[in-house]
Amino acid sequence: MAGNMTFEALKAAVKDGTIDTVLTCFPDMQGRLMGKRFHAVNFVKTSFKETHCCNYLLATDLEMATPDGYAATSWQSGYGDYIMAPDLTTIRRLPWLEGTAMVLCDILDHHSHEPVPHSPRQMLKKQVARLKALGFDAMMATELEFFLFAQSFDDIRKGGFRDMQPISGYNEDYHIFQTTKEEGVMRPIRNHLFDAGLPVENSKGEAETGQEELNIRYADALDCADHHTIAKNAIKEIAWQHGHAATFLPKWHHDKVGSSSHVHQSLWKDDAPAFHDTDGDLGMSDLMRHYMAGLIAYAPDYTFFLAPYINSYKRFAKGTFAPTKTVWSVDNRTAGFRLCGDGTKGIRVECRIGGSDLNPYLAQAAMLAAGIKGIEDKMDLAPPTKGDVYEDAKAQDIPQTLRAATETLRNSAFLREAMGDDVIAHYTRCAEWEQEEFDRVVTDWEIARGFERA
Ligand code: ADP
Repeated sequence: MAGNMTFEALKAAVKDGTIDTVLTCFPDMQGRLMGKRFHAVNFVKTSFKETHCCNYLLATDLEMATPDGYAATSWQSGYGDYIMAPDLTTIRRLPWLEGTAMVLCDILDHHSHEPVPHSPRQMLKKQVARLKALGFDAMMATELEFFLFAQSFDDIRKGGFRDMQPISGYNEDYHIFQTTKEEGVMRPIRNHLFDAGLPVENSKGEAETGQEELNIRYADALDCADHHTIAKNAIKEIAWQHGHAATFLPKWHHDKVGSSSHVHQSLWKDDAPAFHDTDGDLGMSDLMRHYMAGLIAYAPDYTFFLAPYINSYKRFAKGTFAPTKTVWSVDNRTAGFRLCGDGTKGIRVECRIGGSDLNPYLAQAAMLAAGIKGIEDKMDLAPPTKGDVYEDAKAQDIPQTLRAATETLRNSAFLREAMGDDVIAHYTRCAEWEQEEFDRVVTDWEIARGFERA
């Protein structure tokens, strides 16, 4: 059971009046929770079987636009419905919302009842199944970094996103006194998520004013993505309840450190770590070496899934702990991939490229596909790099702009084979649209720079 409540327990809680609302949600392309709030009585009587949503929800952007160019749906095809099929193993109580439980849904075609191939949860399930067919399970952990602000979302929006005040006045990396001052928000985040069944490990101050990190214990890939998505939504909700804003923008200000989402990965066989081999170099098994070789070689292909917006690319800068080089190293934070726990059963690879805005289902699906390819092709892993990788001229870079990442995605024969042509066409359109929207607007920066001086 992935949640913390069986369907029977939900029915009992509805009967005794402790639950009156069931959030029925799914993760969209941006990794947000979309869905409906059901009266709990309706949910346990009928809607637990299925409910419906407009199919534009998997063909829209952050602002809910209806871009053209998606084969899956359009104005011409009338924007029909999808089935939202509740996954009853994911029911959980949400202690920070009174009388409320949540269930995650899978998205099915309205007519065929088949999973919609470009729905993020399905994309991850597909790669998990491919890995299972090879005899392995993936264990993942995605770190959540974000900024907390003194003001509320409403105040910041009404103020035109200017004069934003981070909740702290100085770099709070591992800082206990400063984070004590933030416990009014961070303690309920940890405790409510823990009580909702998420195995929260810890929170800590990060390396910038107002920057936080939340760590959730590793879990199998689908649970990990579910945890990340629920936690991200909860962090915003709990911050809002306390009159604060929380942002997962990777770079909210050019002078401030960016926020990332590092992804720890290991493969397991029959509940034992399959990346560990006591006789292997650094304790790595051949399986791990092949997986890492695929992960690293195909990083340019799947960069879009780690950095999906214009803003994502503002985070990649020299000397910032936001690596862009497709090399690996042993416990060195400047390489794109870091070997952690070498020589132990906890040996794993951490991808450090992704920003805090990544969609965990898509990022994990893409990285699993790359790792599977490495295993299938028995790819060779190059030796680790040493020193400051930023200065290593030989090390390959991932695409440095959304435009370049869109082209590597579009032209990736590997991703087309692993995920399907239609899925890659869908996300290529998503990437193009983001760029088109940015190209259309005039930014504050160019006005201030050139208004008088140009
Ligand atoms: P740090 O030194 O950064 O504190 P941790 O030991 O806390 O590192 O691990 C970082 C993350 O890696 C945690 O979220 C943890 O759950 C996860 N992790 C630990 N072991 C594994 C593993 N075998 N596979 C995947 N993730 C793991």
